[in-house]
Order: sequence, then structure tokens, then C-alpha cells
Amino acid sequence: MKKPFVTKEKIEEIVKTYPTPFHIYDEKGIRENARRLNKAFSWNKGFKEYFAVKATPTPGILKILKEEGCGVDCSSLTELMMSEKCGFTGSDIMFSSNATPDEDFLLARRLGANINLDDFTHIEVLDKLCGIPKTICCRYNPGGHFEIANKIMDNPGDAKYGMTKEQMIEAYKILKQKGAEEFGIHSFLASNTISNEYYPELARTLFELAVELKKKTGVKIKFINLSGGVGVPYRPDEPANDIEIIGEGVRKAYEEVLIPAGMGDVEIYTELGRFMLAPYGHLIAKALREKKIYKNYIGLDACAANLMRPAIYGAYHHITVLGKENEPCEYKYDITGGLCENNDKFAVDRVLPKIDIGDYICIHDTGAHGFSMGYNYNGKLRSAEILLKEDGTYELLRRAEKPSDYFATFDFTHLFDNI
Ligand SMILES: *Cc1c(COP(=O)(O)O)cnc(C)c1O
Repeated sequence: MKKPFVTKEKIEEIVKTYPTPFHIYDEKGIRENARRLNKAFSWNKGFKEYFAVKATPTPGILKILKEEGCGVDCSSLTELMMSEKCGFTGSDIMFSSNATPDEDFLLARRLGANINLDDFTHIEVLDKLCGIPKTICCRYNPGGHFEIANKIMDNPGDAKYGMTKEQMIEAYKILKQKGAEEFGIHSFLASNTISNEYYPELARTLFELAVELKKKTGVKIKFINLSGGVGVPYRPDEPANDIEIIGEGVRKAYEEVLIPAGMGDVEIYTELGRFMLAPYGHLIAKALREKKIYKNYIGLDACAANLMRPAIYGAYHHITVLGKENEPCEYKYDITGGLCENNDKFAVDRVLPKIDIGDYICIHDTGAHGFSMGYNYNGKLRSAEILLKEDGTYELLRRAEKPSDYFATFDFTHLFDNI
């Protein structure tokens, strides 16, 4: 069973100041999870998690993760700017972008970030723009299918990211000639994996590549970045990943592949987003309307503009009717938003307790790729973000958009030129 980290009483207190809808984050959960991750990889001296900013680009969240020893993974100009303002600089930043604009490379270089090149041709682009830094990373794409125990996890051969193995070898030779001294290897082969085997399998692949690269090019491998992809159980019946087992699995591959090759000083990095934040966020909305036609619908004051995953991936997000946690689930509803789009449904044919107008609806696991994927379709406004602090008090991290925010990017005045 999935239990919300907030009660109906707490929400009733918060809405007096900040009306629904809003995303709320659980500081205690975020900190405890970050500590579990750091502990699971504490066998590796240089281990560092670079939180994928795109998952939750909110300064109040980045600050908490910074206090837990995390860096940031950025892939755009504004993510770099936000990270700098939050106090991340130099090797606290991984810059893992693709189709990278010049200005993004320039800012990443100015901040001293670890730049991760997505493509072979980016070597020349970066060199011409601002020179090759002493530390540089390249992103690997092995092609084909990524399988664990004959089960296809994902399809890298179809993914736009990274370089082939031949390009990797050539890239490290050229980068070395151009003055790079320390190298990283990065790869992201499967998303939202519910398997304790994903990271260890990926690690083994990258460790073997590291040994080969060192042999063929003579470069010094400083770090191997396992990137994101460790998933969370969105459904109540799914098993959760065990980060301790995952950490031990990576250690085993490290001891079997890197240590015998004399590479026992390689640092392990991760760039997790979903695993760090998803379970520690809820989207809280209110039941606004009920309608009965061929099915029963509950319309909320939140919509897909606040949480896009169900609409674009058909993703499951668990729902709790706050205050009715122990009531029997005897009603079947489609839970919708108000967009003029029929895929604007948080749940389809979901069995829940009887919902009354005004009930607070908790949509689970929205802490990553939730608020951040929001958009303004139908003129809907982005919601507030609130932090539930460890001491039970709460703090506004980001206010809700107002109509004036929606209108801020164009100028009304020319409409009145003739007056
Ligand atoms: C999206 C992304 C991540 C984080 O992915 P999760 O699925 O949230 O763990 C990490 N690294 C890169 C380069 C990404 O694009």
C-alpha cells in the first residue's frame, strides 16, 4: 500500500495560505534517501551523485541535495544558471547535453563543469569555442538492445545519444592530443528500471570499455558516470529497487574488472533524478466537479499541465483520497483535469473510495518529472511548489503562476496604438 507523507489535516492547514493545486515535497524523505544512496556507494572514494536538474529544477530542492553532498547534472543554459546561483560550480556540475548550443558550452566551460560530449563532432565545436578543458567526458552508445538476463530493457540502437565505440576510441585520442588530461565515460541505456541488475550490468559494460580505452589510447580514466535510469515503483504492487544491493552489485563489477586492470582509483558518479525525488513529491488537487455519462468522472483543479506523465506515457500514478485512506474502494472513476484534450486523465477506471466535491486528492510520485514537465496549454497556469520540512512546518518554494505571468512574454500595448 502506498501511504501519502501528508495528512488531510495538514493539507487543510496549508490551503488556508496556498490553495490547490500544488506539488508538495517531503524534506525528510529526500534527505534519508540521499543518505541511503551515498552509503550504498561509500566503498568508492570519489563517489558523487549529480542530481538531474531537469527532474526538479527548484532551488529549494537543489539546496537540500547540496547539503547531502550531491552535485548537479545540467543540460541547458538555464539549468546551468540556476545551479550557479545555488552555489554549484566546477566539478560539482556535470554538463550532459545534446544538440548543444554554443552559449551553453561557453557557460559550462566558464563554470568549470565536467563537460560530457554527446557526439564526436562536438570535440571540434568545443575546441573552436573555448578550447578543450583538462577534464572531459564522452557519452557512449553501444547500439543494439540492452538486455538483462535475455530481457530487453531498452533500445540504445534507436536512441539519439552518445557515440559508437569506434568514435569513443578516436575521440579520446584526439582529446588527449588537444590537451585533455583526465577522462570520464558516461552512458544512459535504460529509463525507470525496476531491477537491481541495471546499474551493475551497465557498470560492467562501462568498466570493460574503460579498460579497453585505456589500453588503446593510453588515457587516464578519472570517472565513470552511470547516469540516471534507476526507477521507482509507481504502482503499489511493484517491488522497489534496493539501492544497497545495487551499490554492492556495482562494487562487484568494479572489483572484477577495474581493480585487476590497475584502475582502482576510478570514481563512480550517478546522475539520478527520478530515484532521488519522485516518491518524495505529491500533486495535491481538489475535486471540483463530478459528472456521470457513460462513465463516472471526477474533474480536478489540476490537469495534465501540472503532471504530464499520464497523458504522454500512459503512466500510472497512484491516487489517495485524503482522509479516506481506510475506506473501501467501491467506486470506479476516471480522474480528469480540465484541458480540452481527452488524454487529460490522471487515472482511468480507477477504483477508489467515494469521492465528494471538495475532497483533496493526492497524486503520488510526482517529485521528479512532475512540475518540471509542466506547460501552459489551454492557458493553464503552473502550480506552486511547497516543501514539507522535517519539523512538520511548510515553506513556499515557488509561487503559483498568475495570469500576468502567462501574458508576460508579449506586449499588449500595440493593440492600443490607434487609441
Ligand atoms: C534525464 C537524465 C537523467 C536522469 O534520469 P532519471 O530517469 O530521472 O534518473 C540523468 N542523466 C541524463 C543525461 C538525463 O538526460
